Amino acid sequence: MKINGQFTQLSRITVKLASQSHRSRGYREMERFADELDLAQYQTDLMTMSAITAIRRQFEADAGRKDCRDCGAPIPQARLQHVPRAHRCTLCQERHERRSSPH
Ligand SMILES: [Zn+2]
Repeated sequence: MKINGQFTQLSRITVKLASQSHRSRGYREMERFADELDLAQYQTDLMTMSAITAIRRQFEADAGRKDCRDCGAPIPQARLQHVPRAHRCTLCQERHERRSSPH
């Protein structure tokens, strides 16, 4: 992974830094690398946050979802708005009513 490569680079720079004085080339390199690490951390945070947002959206979508009692397919939102207590999709409801009616 990119991060692992950066840590390898970090330890290499740290070793170099130990043999050099303050404000040396190694020190500036270290500062620049610290900035790169901050950016990598920021990008990782962003990816984590968007993954969490996607999971939360899916969770909310699932929470408002109701599956048909007979076929298990999700009952369309339009039907649920029209018939909030619907337990079946339109097709299964019609089939159910045909079965229950004496005709
Ligand atoms: Zn159904």
